[in-house]
Amino acid sequence: MRGVAGIFCVVVLLIGCQERTPQEQSRVLKNKPEVIIHEEYQGEEPTKPEETEVYEPVPPKVTVDENGVPSDAIVLFNGSGFDEWVMAKGSLQVVWHLNDDGSMTVKDKTGDIQTKRNFGDIQLHIEWRSPAEVQREGQNRGNSGVFINNLYEVQVLDNNNNDTYVNGQVASIYKQHIPLAMASMPSGEWNTYDIIYRMPEFNKEGQKIKSGTMTVLHNGVLVQDHVELKGNTPYIGWPQNPPHGKGPIRLQDHGDNSRVSYRNIWVREL
Ligand code: MG
Repeated sequence: MRGVAGIFCVVVLLIGCQERTPQEQSRVLKNKPEVIIHEEYQGEEPTKPEETEVYEPVPPKVTVDENGVPSDAIVLFNGSGFDEWVMAKGSLQVVWHLNDDGSMTVKDKTGDIQTKRNFGDIQLHIEWRSPAEVQREGQNRGNSGVFINNLYEVQVLDNNNNDTYVNGQVASIYKQHIPLAMASMPSGEWNTYDIIYRMPEFNKEGQKIKSGTMTVLHNGVLVQDHVELKGNTPYIGWPQNPPHGKGPIRLQDHGDNSRVSYRNIWVREL
């Protein structure tokens, strides 16, 4: 039996090694994979360009002002005050520092702040800066965070010459997604985060039926590429999936005199 199998293999190899005639070559080319047309485009193949042109819906016109803020954005902070914000605990008036240069700075051990409004799917722009004068190491150097939907932390950390666990470094989705790059500005200089977030979906029983997603650009560099949110981002324990709707955007007071500042915060609802 083994001998028969061996002869069969040799024959197959010999056939495979033979050079193809031009006729055989054209047959191989004709046998290239079938072109699959998306279900949206089934039907008779169009023959004129007009048949594949679409004129509505017309996208709304959005202009961008001299500060880079789109005309359809909600400005959450422009340096003029904390009108859009409250302390996360007790919804009290914000006690963080309001600075003369149009920024705000975490006031140590006062707690997180969050937006008064709730948001679902968003595009968020936020700028942050850790102090030029560095103190401490690891997670205790310039630690803050942007909690999207009040649950999903995009880490803010001074990682310049300051290693830590990579799933908790700057621009990580905390303890869930390592960033694709470390794109921080030097300590003391402003960074930008541009975040695109899509909410998870839950059924009536409160079970997650579709994961949320997040895309993050750090100083224009793609660092989170439409990643799946596997749950919330706890300090201790696995990600959990509590059912939720829209929620506030929350900024973290890490409680160790981080002195992290924020400015130019705007959001577009998607
Ligand atoms: Mg943090």
